[in-house]
Amino acid sequence: MTEPLANGTRVEVEGFRGVACIVLGPEQVWEPATYLAEDEDGTEVWLEDPSGEGEWVDGGGSRVRVVMVGDDHEWTVDAGDCTPLSEDDYCSECGQVGCYGDGRAVDESS
Ligand SMILES: [Zn+2]
Repeated sequence: MTEPLANGTRVEVEGFRGVACIVLGPEQVWEPATYLAEDEDGTEVWLEDPSGEGEWVDGGGSRVRVVMVGDDHEWTVDAGDCTPLSEDDYCSECGQVGCYGDGRAVDESS
């Protein structure tokens, strides 16, 4: 199993064309509320609550939610596709890995 990524880790995600992402946390899955009922044979069965109620719970797998730097769209990706980045590996302006458009690599004093 892949090592879990801590929330806030900057990562490069495979297939995201070099845009840095921030790990938000483990994948959330919708778990519908259930209620106990009996089928025709009198066997107890758990059925999905028709009211549509439920809760978001941690997926428990290796998938994590990430958001691209400078964007607010959440993606769910496999942690195995994430490569942790250091602060200097990406641009804080556009989020591109290897871009130094934010000037940080040029002037470290600011
Ligand atoms: Zn840039």
